[in-house]
Amino acid sequence: MIKLEGITKSFGSLQVLKGIDLEINRGEIVSIVGPSGAGKTTLLQIMGTLDEPDAGTVQIDGTVVSRMKEKELSAFRNKNIGFVFQFHQLLPEFTALENVMIPAFIAGVSSKEANDRAMKILDFMGLVDRASHKPNELSGGEKQRVAVARALINDPAVILADEPSGSLDTHNKEDLHQLFFNLRDRLGQTFVIVTHDEGLAKITDRTVQMVDGMIKKS
Ligand code: ATP
Repeated sequence: MIKLEGITKSFGSLQVLKGIDLEINRGEIVSIVGPSGAGKTTLLQIMGTLDEPDAGTVQIDGTVVSRMKEKELSAFRNKNIGFVFQFHQLLPEFTALENVMIPAFIAGVSSKEANDRAMKILDFMGLVDRASHKPNELSGGEKQRVAVARALINDPAVILADEPSGSLDTHNKEDLHQLFFNLRDRLGQTFVIVTHDEGLAKITDRTVQMVDGMIKKS
């Protein structure tokens, strides 16, 4: 599903990724762990086509994305990859429903279809009664679940999450982790999750350990 070969990346004189080879299978839930500065976020950004490697190739679902032009790439990204970040990054002036619909609009989906899809996902998440609330009227756990709903709206094959439960309390954290497994079991998505949460790393299908820009164990 995701295949990285020979990925290197430097910022100025600092080499952050030193030749990463990694394959992730369809439907796998993989955690990426390692000390601060090991290059986890950089690797996830490259996997998600948000950043370019200096060398190496990134393949997603059989498509080599590392050679795509930006316009083609942003359409590919919007359709095939969902992102969840530590801080929900919902737009404050829009309701939960509108926030979830945004990637569908970008993909050119009609407003009726976007609305139907968003309501279906919000229903699955138990958030229908929060659909017309703005982010500041939602709890931390609800906001993060809305962010997951937004990541799912175009039915992407891959969800990339960077410290998705980093700002949540224990109860909401466990709910969010359970949601990832429910989604995988129901919809078959592939999840790659950068995390410092040992509890989460323990329950994922596979843990990739990064140290100093290299994979120590996968
Ligand atoms: P953490 O667990 O603290 O989030 P990480 O393993 O995710 O760390 P990265 O965020 O990938 O690490 O950063 C790896 C190194 O690259 C760090 O030393 C960081 O300061 C540096 N770095 C990351 N992005 C940039 C950038 N855009 N410009 C310059 N340096 C950067």
